[in-house]
Amino acid sequence: MMPSVIQDFHNAGIEVRIDVSLAPLTTYGVGGNAACVVKSTVEGIGHVAQILSSHPHIPVVVLGRGSNVLIADHGFNGVVVLLAGATGADAIEVQDDHVRVGGGVLMPVLARRSVAAERGGLEWCVGIPGTVGGAVRMNAGGHGADMASSLRDVEIISLKSGRREVVPAHSLGLHFRGSVIAPHHVVTSATLATTSTNTAAGTNEINAVVAWRREHQPGGRNAGSVFVNPLDGARSAGALIDELGLRGYSVGGAQVSEKHANFIQASDGATPSDIVSIMQHVQQEVERVHHIRLRSEVRLIGFSPDIEEQFADPRHNESGRLEAGANLQKVLGEDER
Ligand SMILES: Cc1cc2nc3c(=O)[nH]c(=O)nc-3n(C[C@H](O)[C@H](O)[C@H](O)COP(=O)(O)OP(=O)(O)OC[C@H]3O[C@@H](n4cnc5c(N)ncnc54)[C@H](O)[C@@H]3O)c2cc1C
Repeated sequence: MMPSVIQDFHNAGIEVRIDVSLAPLTTYGVGGNAACVVKSTVEGIGHVAQILSSHPHIPVVVLGRGSNVLIADHGFNGVVVLLAGATGADAIEVQDDHVRVGGGVLMPVLARRSVAAERGGLEWCVGIPGTVGGAVRMNAGGHGADMASSLRDVEIISLKSGRREVVPAHSLGLHFRGSVIAPHHVVTSATLATTSTNTAAGTNEINAVVAWRREHQPGGRNAGSVFVNPLDGARSAGALIDELGLRGYSVGGAQVSEKHANFIQASDGATPSDIVSIMQHVQQEVERVHHIRLRSEVRLIGFSPDIEEQFADPRHNESGRLEAGANLQKVLGEDER
């Protein structure tokens, strides 16, 4: 099945790379290979979607900056679609009280460009080292805000149906560090509400966010917070882990950060299995002592269903979320296939 989709990409003149190491495409810098990787601009994604929609059984996953993913040791046996990071002047359109931004634009670029155009409210985005598309999918947030607080709508293209639709934010099932956007849905652009600001005030706020991050978060190879703060963010996963004295706990080349207990650092020689072993140990200990089951914020790609299930959010099976997911698939014409 794979050779025929590769042939289809070749025939359409779309560059496709085969047996590609995914490690360099992620901030953890670990993980195996993808069967194939297709890099696309927002403009070109329609052609990619058309081809993939005629191979609906091939597993696909979209990746942005790879700052919230852990790839399995044996990689991903499917097609990884990379949304190229647009940087041109047209990647961000500032209009009256909102901005429209491409899905591949980096969040810090969004923060800085908005402030330069005297639009405020998105300064916190400077602290998120990922793309706008990834941030929508994750409902990324920090410093008292998240994507849901300013997101109006997004354009999504389905790699299953090939259909492209503008979807209002309330149809995305956005919740604390998650949404019902599926691995085969590509957020190609987002419209975000902004407030009026002046560039000096906005720049000060940006500098404060950057300084806070430098002081409180480790550098090096990690994917930010590993576990979602439980109870919809009311408890700090880092504090729960910290109380158990797990800072510095290590397996192979991976270690719970000494600086932030909810970060796992990868050093040379670290493997995805090392990171997962730490996650399992931390999850077990927190559940044993605090009776709270932590779920993974980091998206696990290519792992066995039992590992995925172990760290999944049990609420993804709640009727409200299932319904929102089914509705989104319907809007994108996936039920017609
Ligand atoms: C040092 C550090 C600090 C961090 N701090 C924070 C923080 O404060 N708050 C926070 O919320 N997160 C934080 N993160 C996590 C991460 O940066 C965010 O979740 C970010 O929004 C992910 O964007 P990405 O492009 O890297 O997504 P990826 O890691 O590439 O993908 C993450 C998920 O989004 C999906 N996805 C990616 N692109 C798209 C797209 N265009 N359309 C649809 N789905 C897509 C992927 O399939 C995957 O499920 C941090 C990470 C690091 C490394």
